[in-house]
Amino acid sequence: MNTQNQFQVRREMCDIGHRIWLKGFCAGNEGNHSVRIAEDRVLCTPTGVSKGFLTPDQITVVDMDGTQIDKHNVMKRSSEVLLHLQVYKARPDVEAVVHSHPPHATAFAIANIPIPEGIHPEAEVFLGKIPMAKYTTPSYKELGESVVALINKQTNTVMMANHGSVSFDRTLIGAYYKLEILDAYCRILLLSRQLGKVNQLTRDEMVDLLKVKEKFGLPDQRLACAPGGCIGAENQAFLATLDVHPQTACACADGQVQKPQPVSPEKIEEMVQRVTDQIMASMKS
Ligand SMILES: [Zn+2]
Repeated sequence: MNTQNQFQVRREMCDIGHRIWLKGFCAGNEGNHSVRIAEDRVLCTPTGVSKGFLTPDQITVVDMDGTQIDKHNVMKRSSEVLLHLQVYKARPDVEAVVHSHPPHATAFAIANIPIPEGIHPEAEVFLGKIPMAKYTTPSYKELGESVVALINKQTNTVMMANHGSVSFDRTLIGAYYKLEILDAYCRILLLSRQLGKVNQLTRDEMVDLLKVKEKFGLPDQRLACAPGGCIGAENQAFLATLDVHPQTACACADGQVQKPQPVSPEKIEEMVQRVTDQIMASMKS
């Protein structure tokens, strides 16, 4: 990649960082994203900088082992680039990776509830099945291993338990859109949960949808098992939360919500008199 093109990629990485920050997907200096620019070269966001205020010169260059190549750069590459590199190695078609902590999706990761499937067409077409990797310490190579173990050639988004998301695509904007759709979908799920009801698409509706997806040039291996009902096999963890009815702050120990007691006219009279006395006293002082 020539210098001019590389500068364009650096600028795009700053623009995407700004969008990530504006959307509230990464607080403080959280998150990181990268673009593969050659067989053994990856541009990666630096550590310790808000993604909202990146400049092109701060973007670091690493090889496929994670060694920072641009020694003159005062910025240090993100420690989580190791996760990105493992995705690139596992999926040679991927050219951009975005790791983020989108709040609505991360709520599922914190609760260790798999993102349900077979509910929203947009999420099905653009994200598909979203696996949940078990928790491992951020920046450890085990984090990348736990993610890569779950991806197939159609996976583009993985949740990491108690941590956040990782999205990947052929382009940086494509990977970013996956992140945006993921958090919008999870927000819709949490809102529908407040309404107390979630309709799942039927087997036939899912088969139709996955056929349409295939026509878009996005084959989905779930189409083979969808007629047998494989979609939504892990939805129960989310659907079970619909049975939880919140109680008010004054709930009694036995779980019953205390009903307000009727107040007698004498009691009201007494309260009004007490307030009036207080007002009169404050006016005199
Ligand atoms: Zn992280």
